Amino acid sequence: MKGKIAVIGGGIAGVQAASSLAKDWDTTLILGENHLPYYRMRIEEVIAGAEPESLYMHPAAWYEEKGIHLIHDRASSIDREGHSVVLEDGKKVPYDKLVITTGSNAFSFPLEGRTGNIFSLRTMDDALNLRTALLSADSFTVIGGGLLGLELAYSVSQSFHIPVSVIENGPYILSRQLDEDSARMLQESLERSGVKVFAGVSADHADDTLLYLSDGTSVPAAVICFSIGVRCEKTIAEDAGLVTDKGIVVNNGLCTSDPDILAAGDAVELDGRTFGLAMHAREMGMKAAAVINGDTTPYIPSEPSALLKVGGIDVASLGSMTGEKNVFEGSDSRVTVFVENGTVRGIVLINAKSVMAAARNAVGKGYDETVFRTV
Ligand SMILES: Cc1cc2nc3c(=O)[nH]c(=O)nc-3n(C[C@H](O)[C@H](O)[C@H](O)COP(=O)(O)OP(=O)(O)OC[C@H]3O[C@@H](n4cnc5c(N)ncnc54)[C@H](O)[C@@H]3O)c2cc1C
Repeated sequence: MKGKIAVIGGGIAGVQAASSLAKDWDTTLILGENHLPYYRMRIEEVIAGAEPESLYMHPAAWYEEKGIHLIHDRASSIDREGHSVVLEDGKKVPYDKLVITTGSNAFSFPLEGRTGNIFSLRTMDDALNLRTALLSADSFTVIGGGLLGLELAYSVSQSFHIPVSVIENGPYILSRQLDEDSARMLQESLERSGVKVFAGVSADHADDTLLYLSDGTSVPAAVICFSIGVRCEKTIAEDAGLVTDKGIVVNNGLCTSDPDILAAGDAVELDGRTFGLAMHAREMGMKAAAVINGDTTPYIPSEPSALLKVGGIDVASLGSMTGEKNVFEGSDSRVTVFVENGTVRGIVLINAKSVMAAARNAVGKGYDETVFRTV
């Protein structure tokens, strides 16, 4: 063995880093939740009734076989001089190299007039608590019309058959991923499946049954869930004196300001940018392990992509929505290609899976419209 590795956080980045390192390093994975590592992006299935265990990435035996020591306790601090992680129970986990993958936390704000039945959705326990509340609720409102909010709203309306509303303060839903026409197409589909969307208004205050909006109207909201974005979980790094800003600041080799400490996943900030997608967490977990094993090439994040299936419509958003819009329409499909100086910057596909592979390949390259004419 080359030495000791400690990884703080058992999300995708942490499990990826630990499993890539365990062959050559004595590896300990510190899990802050009372579950084995699970697929966070599927926790809505638990709201609909799935057992938590069905979302576990691997059974306990898998970690044993790989030689990964699991610790179920939160890390409370990092002793950088002593090269150890201090756990909440006071025990210490020594390291030669440490990887921080503490992820992010859901953001919310207080709603005047309401104390109970307000949730956010980030962890398995959040999903279990939300399910319990929904079992006796007669209405549900999601604050935030982004990807997670819409998927949650659709899934609750299908599983619980109660009135579901989405409040979006932007001009239309998914305004970061979609152009306005594509967003309207998706909104119509959502409304046909029973989810009411209120865009261009914000949540103001609430009582036990209603949520009052900035335009003076209200929606039924026995249970409310915030889905308005995440903030990097950087506390432990900040307390240890590492450089942080929006997230834990890393260089393109995923090293923090301490050369023996790397960071990966939602928790990091690289070149002023934070992430928030599973694909980047996985890539960074692998890269952090490679760097520890001697890789000196820079980490270059893949182009972000978002895939969503809501109310029977497939939506994919690749790259960024900047530049001139070129629209191709089929009978129930639509492709919007954003082109800047002859280069494809982003693509939105609605019910156009047939050109998905071509679209992935097209982002960042010269624009060739024949690729999209087949829609
Ligand atoms: C409902 C939902 C749906 C999503 N859907 C998608 C999707 O469709 N596509 C997509 O790309 N992304 C999706 N995401 C985002 C994706 O899940 C995250 O980008 C990804 O989980 C980030 O992985 P991570 O390993 O960096 O952090 P996380 O998965 O957040 O894991 C971090 C872990 O570290 C633990 N931790 C924090 N502090 C400590 C401490 N001090 N000690 C010990 N442990 C600690 C946390 O409890 C957590 O378990 C979704 C997220 C949610 C919540």
